[in-house]
This record gives sequence, C-alpha cells and structure tokens, in this order.
Amino acid sequence: MFCADSSPHVRNSQLEYALNILKHSFRAFCYNNSLLIKEYRDSMSEFKAFSLLESIIERVSLKGYTQPTPIQKECIPVLIKGNDLLGIAQTGTGKTAAFSLPIINKFGRNKIDIQAKSTRSLILTPTRELASQIMQNIDDYSDGLALKTKVVYGGVGRQAQVDAIADGLDILVATPGRLLDLIETGDINFKALEVFVLDEADTMLDMGFFNDVQNIISKLPKKRQTLLFSATMPAEIEILAEAILTEPTKVQIAAQMVTIDLVNQSVYQLDKSNKVAALFNILAKPDYEKVLIFCKTKYGADIIVKALEDASITAASLHSGKTQAMREEALQNFKASTLRVLVATDVAARGIDVDNISLVINYNLPEDPRNYIHRIGRTARAGKSGMAISFAVENDIRQLTTIENSIGQVIPVVTEQPFHKEFSKAPIQTKKKKQVKKPSKKTHRARTKRK
Ligand code: AMP
Repeated sequence: MFCADSSPHVRNSQLEYALNILKHSFRAFCYNNSLLIKEYRDSMSEFKAFSLLESIIERVSLKGYTQPTPIQKECIPVLIKGNDLLGIAQTGTGKTAAFSLPIINKFGRNKIDIQAKSTRSLILTPTRELASQIMQNIDDYSDGLALKTKVVYGGVGRQAQVDAIADGLDILVATPGRLLDLIETGDINFKALEVFVLDEADTMLDMGFFNDVQNIISKLPKKRQTLLFSATMPAEIEILAEAILTEPTKVQIAAQMVTIDLVNQSVYQLDKSNKVAALFNILAKPDYEKVLIFCKTKYGADIIVKALEDASITAASLHSGKTQAMREEALQNFKASTLRVLVATDVAARGIDVDNISLVINYNLPEDPRNYIHRIGRTARAGKSGMAISFAVENDIRQLTTIENSIGQVIPVVTEQPFHKEFSKAPIQTKKKKQVKKPSKKTHRARTKRK
C-alpha cells in the first residue's frame, strides 16, 4: 500500500487513509458485534423470561436453542411454580427440556445434603435408549451446577449404579425393571423424593411395564410434585393420571401433525421379492447420507444389515436381541455418521434422537399405526424436514389404509421407480378420524390405478 519513494506529504496522506480504513473496520466490527449481542439477547429473551439460572440459559444457548418450543413455553412456568402436570406430547417436541430445566433450576438454586441411597427426583422412562438420552440432555443442561445425577437400566452391571446412588442423588433417570431390582435390594429409597416424572406412560403400557410402574409409584411418598407425559391417553393412563396427579395443569401439544407436515412421505408398491433391490436402488442415491430403516423382526433386521454390508454399505442393527453395549455402539456410530444405515425394530426405535436423518424407510409397515408417526418423526427433528418411504406389498393394503386413516392423509405412491407394481385390490376405506387431505394429481392417479 505504501510507496517507499513517495514524498513525506504523500506518505502522510497514505497513513491517514490507512488509519481511516482501520477506524471504519473497527466501527463496523463493534457495530456487528453489538448487533450479534443484541440478537443473542433478543433470541434468548423468551428463555430468560422463565427466570431460570443464568448457567442453564447459557447451556441451552450452547445447544443451539434460540427459543423455547411450544411445550417448553407451556410447561416451564407451571413446573417452576411447583404444580403437577399432565403433558400429552411425544418425543421430538422438546419435552425433555420442558420437564428437566425446571428440575435442574430447582436443585441448582436449592442445594441440600442428600440422604444416602435416596434421590430428590425420579424420571421413569420405558427404554434404555430414552433413559440415556434424557440423562445426556440433563447433564448438558446442568453442566457447572455440580448436581449429582445417574441413569440406571438393565443389561449393564449394577454395582456402578449402586455406588452412584449410595451418596444420594439430585436426579435419577431409570427404566422400570432395574429400578425395581434396586428397590428390592434396598439400594434406593424415596424418602427424600420431591419430583416424580413418568415419561411415555402409553409406551410403558404398550411394552407391558404397567404393573412395574404402579408398583414403583406405590413406593413413592404421597407429598411430591408429579409430571405425567404420554403421547396418547388410553383409558388406563387416564385412570392412572387421575390417581397420581393433584390438580394438574394439562398441556397438549399436537406434535403429530406438525411432524407429519415436515416429512415428505411416499409409498413404493412392490413385489415382496423386489424389496431388497428397491432398497439398493434408493441407497444408490448419495443424497441419503443417514438412513434409518424399520423392519418387523430382529432376524429381518440382521438379514438386511448383512446384505448392506456385503454391498459395502456401512450398517448396523438395533433391536432387543442385541446387548446394551452393542445397541449403544450402533447408535453412537450412526450419530457420528460412521454408519450410513441403521436398521431397527419398533421395540428399539422408541426415542431414537439422531440429528439429520435424511431418510426413513419402512421396509415393513408398522403393525400398530401409531408407530408410523413415531417412525417417520425420526427424520423431521426439531423443525427440520425429512423424507419417508414406505414399502408396501399387495397384502399390506389394509394396513396402509389404516395408517392413512390414522394420519388423515393419503400417502402418495411413487409410480416412477423400477419396481413399481400395480395392485389389483382396491384400498379399503375404513372410518376416517381426521379430514383427509386432498391428494396431489400424481397421488390421485396412483390411487385410481390401484382400484
Ligand atoms: P425431545 O422431545 O426432548 O426428545 O427433543 C427433541 C429434539 O429437540 C432434541 O434433539 C433436542 O435437543 C431438541 N430441542 C429441545 N428443545 C429445543 C429448542 N428449544 N430449540 C431447538 N431444539 C430443541
């Protein structure tokens, strides 16, 4: 910029010019930063309005959350007041932060010497995956507050769990089986319990844990704050809610339709013998970087993984026949993108929270239509969009129609795929629960052909 042979006058004006540029850059830097700081303050203002500890707000912001989700907006103030809560919402809505931030806030503000072998709060959840996911989130949100937390579930050694509970805990996350085991051996008591969260109550019912849950609840002190979350409200859960909640605030989040709207859904009509070929055809597209495949049986999942591995596609299966260590390894590798494909059964699929799943494939349709929502919801997490392709063979038509009726939408059939098969049977229109969306021209054509 400076010319060595220029006169002192020229050099001075060059210096002045350079200084001006520096001044302007500095002002622009300050301006941009003040804008950034203002933006940060504005964006976090809704979280700040909850009067949560500053460290919690910082942790939440580090997680990349800029504003509370609807369930968080409704639940957090109620829970901070100490009220009971009935939350009708499923995973994917930001439910974990909704119940855990007020608990962390409560114990972070009011630290006490916890009695040995007891816990100030208990979060009961049906699966190991959900339990470790909840624990991971709680540890992230409470970092720096020195809370004592532990997750306990079966399938792994119990001594480390017993040792952790021995000194007393602020937060215990547990699955029912292992918790009952620890209660029976006297390794945990609930004398100091202040807050109880029953998560995924309807899944507990579906998975046959209902008696265990009731047994655990009978051991809890009557004076406590209770939160019950369930995606649906079958009669058993309504009765349970009535029995264990005191004047609860009811919060209902219509997450199902929100999730569905963000997922680009389609159906491949196929001959059973073409399923594997259709799968490879889809996976040939490199855009699908992270693919979650659901199938019916453990055996089926392992066969698909073997076929994928033989074709040099990195894959692993996740089902109840695998040890906990294997399940966690598979999930971690899928999260870290070391695996491109994860093949899961419905039992293991509950609560899988992996960012950026580009595609969900229903290799087999779910038997329970409610699981269709759970499955496809894995790809449209936290407001992102995603793709879901369901394979249907001719015998699946009734099941497909039940699913369509339960979601209130006709799922478009992709006719332009190499293995498309026209079905002779007409789709069966069972009773419609919700208004069915008008199908697109392509869908309509496909449906007409199916008749
Ligand atoms: P959950 O329903 O608790 O399983 O949460 C689903 C996903 O949403 C998780 O990946 C959370 O990290 C994420 N999440 C929770 N709260 C927020 C928020 N306020 N903003 C953005 N993402 C969130």
